[in-house]
Amino acid sequence: MPEYALFQNSILVKLILILHVCVKLFILRGILIFVDQIFLIEAIGAAALGAIVGSFVNALSFRWGTGVGMRGRSRCMHCGHKLSALDLVPVASYLFIRGRCRYCSARISLQYPLVELVGAALSLGTFLVQPSPLPYTVAFLLWMTLLFLVTYDLRHLSLPIPALWTVGVLGLLSTTLSCSSGSICAVAVPPLVSLVAGPIIALPLLLFSALSGERWMGWGDGFLALGLGWFVGLTGGVTALCFAFWGGAFVGLSLVALSRRRVTMTSEIPFAPFLMFGAAIVYFFHIDLFSILLV
Ligand SMILES: [Zn+2]
Repeated sequence: MPEYALFQNSILVKLILILHVCVKLFILRGILIFVDQIFLIEAIGAAALGAIVGSFVNALSFRWGTGVGMRGRSRCMHCGHKLSALDLVPVASYLFIRGRCRYCSARISLQYPLVELVGAALSLGTFLVQPSPLPYTVAFLLWMTLLFLVTYDLRHLSLPIPALWTVGVLGLLSTTLSCSSGSICAVAVPPLVSLVAGPIIALPLLLFSALSGERWMGWGDGFLALGLGWFVGLTGGVTALCFAFWGGAFVGLSLVALSRRRVTMTSEIPFAPFLMFGAAIVYFFHIDLFSILLV
């Protein structure tokens, strides 16, 4: 038997081999844990950022168009007491003070924690769909603007024009981002189908507005659909519209059935929340009616 064979069979070599494999596994596990931790921290950061912007969206929805302006510290809507930093921590403050003002005990609108939570969920969802910095930023800004539009529409039954412009510009910008594998993204000329998606999705809603003299639908909803069509694409946009109309019909008829006096078939119901709902189903859950029907 050659000498090296003896050496190979020795217990020491076997121990060294086992140790070598263990070290390799340990390093691999360490890298995996490290990567997961970074991902986890980024995901928590994205959710926190969404909650903070959600808090700003709340303030904006109360102040926009009211002449109050965005400057100056936040105050209690009932007693006018200036709110401290402790009162303004998204979600946590509301839970800590149990939904009542610390100074006058007046009940605080549930809108505050709800919008902050939805902001956190939208930002986290966007990060999970698009973790690359550039597409995440564009999509995050678009969802936050959409959150403001929906909050404002529910409160005031109108859509601020600058926010509609913002959704349109960001939607169009998203068509120019071409992301291949991993986090490699580049700005490119969008294909024609992406460019026409916005106008095609907006057209039926704008026709509704024109034919009904804004009784069935406001102009703002059509312009909102323009930006969303660019954002989720042509088939995604049609899917989002279908979900928006189904959701609108379901909620509208339920409201008529549940409150016979206050809500009637001619009551004005904001449509922007349903457009956002449809776009969210397409963007976050990758649901596309065309791919489902054609399979
Ligand atoms: Zn108060």
